[in-house]
Amino acid sequence: MTGLMAGKRGLIMGLANDKSLAWGIAQKLREHGAELAFSYQGEALEKRVRPLAESLGSDFLIDCDVSSMDALDDAFAQLKARWDTLDFVVHAIGFSDKNELRGKYVDTSLDNFLMTMNISAYSLVAVTKRAAEMMPNGGSILTLTYYGAEKVVPHYNVMGVAKAALEASVKYLANDLGPVNIRVNGISAGPIKTLAASGIGDFRYILKWNELNSPLRRNVTIEDVGGAGLYMLSDLSSGVTGETHHVDAGYHLVGMKQEDAPDI
Ligand code: NAD
Repeated sequence: MTGLMAGKRGLIMGLANDKSLAWGIAQKLREHGAELAFSYQGEALEKRVRPLAESLGSDFLIDCDVSSMDALDDAFAQLKARWDTLDFVVHAIGFSDKNELRGKYVDTSLDNFLMTMNISAYSLVAVTKRAAEMMPNGGSILTLTYYGAEKVVPHYNVMGVAKAALEASVKYLANDLGPVNIRVNGISAGPIKTLAASGIGDFRYILKWNELNSPLRRNVTIEDVGGAGLYMLSDLSSGVTGETHHVDAGYHLVGMKQEDAPDI
């Protein structure tokens, strides 16, 4: 342990199980001395999240569905009742109807468009507003995004559009909160097999394609994401805000299939 996060307190939102990107980040933060609280969506997930939180020395769990502003108000009231201030937040939340994460984007329904935008993009704005009130000495907020925001990834569809809104929100929020020393950044992670990813059509093909065509010729792990998360949430990145940082084995810079990649 380096003590890089010693004395810092933060909220982890979006832990579902030990495959979650939030788990890779939470483990790294704890290893470096952070004190953690966890929010989870509904009772069913609490059973999975509680033992994981306990293994990182935390008994501070808060039920919060981010699509409800009342639930968010209540979650931050619970946080404030126990902690005066907050140093960081990890926002690792995304959701869309999986029936619309296959087929064509043109078939997206209005209801699912609005729900996906609300849970996957607006929630960062709503969380940041409430978290900032608890950050009188500045802080760091981190969200998770994906390359499908920048380029078309077949089947990613409305999630790609929501991630584009999320990445633009990172920039606007960074500019709003920079004067009070609150930094807002995103990590654009390469594909990793998680609960959320299993809803995306042809995800196994995406994983194989990235493994064969990224400069590092491998997929990234939640440990890779955790290391970058530690950097973004600690003072190591004190001069960085409004950034979308790729943790994708370099995949985003490749324009075509690698010569040594077999057809799949
Ligand atoms: P995950 O299933 O482990 O986590 C997704 C989390 O979102 C879950 O904990 C779920 O409870 C939460 N969530 C969904 N709707 C919610 C709501 N209404 N209120 C509160 N929480 C809600 O999957 P993950 O892959 O670790 O996803 C975390 C983030 O990482 C997401 O934003 C995802 O888009 C992003 N991401 C994932 C990948 C990947 O390949 N797995 C790549 C890049 C970015």
